[in-house]
This record gives sequence, structure tokens and C-alpha cells, in this order.
Amino acid sequence: MTIIENIEKRIKNFRADLSRYDNAMPTLSNDVKSKVKIMRDEIFIRLEELEFVMKLLEQQPIERSPTRICEICGKPFLSIRDNNIYCSIGCRQKAHRQRKELSNAPL
Ligand SMILES: [Zn+2]
Repeated sequence: MTIIENIEKRIKNFRADLSRYDNAMPTLSNDVKSKVKIMRDEIFIRLEELEFVMKLLEQQPIERSPTRICEICGKPFLSIRDNNIYCSIGCRQKAHRQRKELSNAPL
């Protein structure tokens, strides 16, 4: 199951859970009922937004090209591992030094 399918399944289950509150509604007082309704509508709007985003993501799968641009020197390089963002050990050390300088900089 892809991540998108997984999230879609969760949204579907969540929607089903929300509809179950309809059964409990008649036992609630009127002002609680209206509050619950407003909250539920809000949640449904968010779910619709989420589903819309999921559809966009499905249409444009994230490119998993092994070629990346080094954040330090700007040279393209072949990334063997997913989390490589620097072309060489040298650039990685340079990035580390830069981060250190930034965190030591006076405010
Ligand atoms: Zn580099």
C-alpha cells in the first residue's frame, strides 16, 4: 500500500467514524447539537481539502531522480542514498562548519 492509499483509507475510516455521531445526536441538548454540527462541518471541509491535496500528489508523483544538486557547491551529483544532499565529504564538512558558525553567531 502506498502512503497516499494509506492516508486515503484513514480519511475514509475517519469519515465513517464521524457519521456515527449522527446516531448520538438526538440525545444531545440543542446548543451542544449545533456546536457539534459546526465542528463536524469544519472537519469535513478539512477532509475535503486533504483529499484534494492527495489527488494532486497522486497526479504528480515525487520525482526520485538519483541526480541532485549539491547545496554547497551547486554541482550535480549522483546520490546513492536517499538522504545525500552534498556531493562530497568536503562539502558536507563545509555545511557542518557553516551551521556551527550560524549557531554561534551573536544575536
Ligand atoms: Zn558540493
